[in-house]
Amino acid sequence: MRRQVVIIGSGPAGLLLGQLLGRAGIDTLILERSTREHVLSRIRAGVLERGTVALLEKAGVAERLHREGLVHSGVELAFDGDRLRLDLAALTGGAGVSVYGQTEVTRDLMEAREAAGRPTVFEAGDVEIRDIETACPSVSFTVHGERRTVACDFVAACDGFHGIGRRSVPEGALRTFERVYPFGWLGLLTDAPPVTDELVYANHPRGFALLSMRSPTRSRYYVQVPLETRAEDWSDERFFDELRLRLPAGMASRLRTTPSIEKSVAPLRSFVAEPMRFGSLFLAGDAAHIVPPTGAKGLNLAAGDVHYLSSGLIEHYREGSDAGLDRYSERALGRVWKAERFSWWMTSMLHRFPGTDAFAERMQRAEFDHVASVRSAAANVAENYVGLPF
Ligand SMILES: Cc1cc2nc3c(=O)[nH]c(=O)nc-3n(C[C@H](O)[C@H](O)[C@H](O)COP(=O)(O)OP(=O)(O)OC[C@H]3O[C@@H](n4cnc5c(N)ncnc54)[C@H](O)[C@@H]3O)c2cc1C
Repeated sequence: MRRQVVIIGSGPAGLLLGQLLGRAGIDTLILERSTREHVLSRIRAGVLERGTVALLEKAGVAERLHREGLVHSGVELAFDGDRLRLDLAALTGGAGVSVYGQTEVTRDLMEAREAAGRPTVFEAGDVEIRDIETACPSVSFTVHGERRTVACDFVAACDGFHGIGRRSVPEGALRTFERVYPFGWLGLLTDAPPVTDELVYANHPRGFALLSMRSPTRSRYYVQVPLETRAEDWSDERFFDELRLRLPAGMASRLRTTPSIEKSVAPLRSFVAEPMRFGSLFLAGDAAHIVPPTGAKGLNLAAGDVHYLSSGLIEHYREGSDAGLDRYSERALGRVWKAERFSWWMTSMLHRFPGTDAFAERMQRAEFDHVASVRSAAANVAENYVGLPF
């Protein structure tokens, strides 16, 4: 069997890449370790930058997003009960973000792929990538007990942080940068109308809290918790009690206790692997970098990588030029590091760090006051939040 591009992973990065390449007439095979149902049941990101929305439009999968997604032209920050609304539209010349769950993005992309008859192998086990230093790489995998090998021109590793792609690069060829934060987020999803029309990121002496949503009837809430926290130790009641304590007074009184649909703990990490290409292998999305979710950049960065990688591959097949592929790593990393900076800054300002001193706490407050009182500082946050241009 031979394909032009083998994509590993059917998360948003892999599916979006497959869709953009497929529409350009490039033949792809997606290999996914999990079942289709498992991929579609994962609750993750929910805020789409304007560039991500434009890319989904280009991929022909934005019809439901425009119908059901919520366009937000503002976002709120809170510090010890003080509130600050950032008017994203006014601060950026009209831009905003769209609230539409990653699960829905994945479903739209998967259905488009299936409708076009493009192949995906689910439950592909023991994926092995070979000969990436040559122009004839291959990928082997096991499905229904049978071992298969596919030869290809390129391999795109869109297989997340724990995938096989990054680990297939010879030792010493990658440089990695990492910061692990000493806390996680406990998230709760519930069918209740959002407390506020816009997202609220709050720093409180008891820790960070976030009011987010997926639709006009579905809310997603988070509280900062110690790393060792287990979701099953938190009843819904305990979660809502804690969340209420961390919110500004007017908001806490509007919070309704409705049963959770899902509850999970996500650790917070910053991570970058450089470069994002080794020979015929390209890394995209979480396979190459992780951001803490404060700032809502993870899914959007994956889309940014796919923008650069798909245009490089299309240029290769249409024009016989490798200029875009040769610049892929440099262009993607330029944008990745800016999003890493923003996500780190948001995380640093909004969380309570164990063992921190009074000076560090005053610095957090000064950051908040600076954004609240200096328009250029607010504009800087807004421009990063709606997403830097590709
Ligand atoms: C629990 C959690 C909560 C998150 N919350 C937010 C949030 O609120 N906001 C935000 O912006 N971001 C959030 N993120 C980050 C965001 O979801 C990711 O940045 C985004 O999913 C990246 O997409 P991806 O396609 O690169 O990787 P993934 O979505 O991880 O997809 C990778 C795919 O590859 C498959 N795979 C892995 N290994 C193999 C293998 N060896 N062979 C075949 N297939 C393989 C996986 O099963 C998966 O389907 C969250 C992430 C997690 C884990």
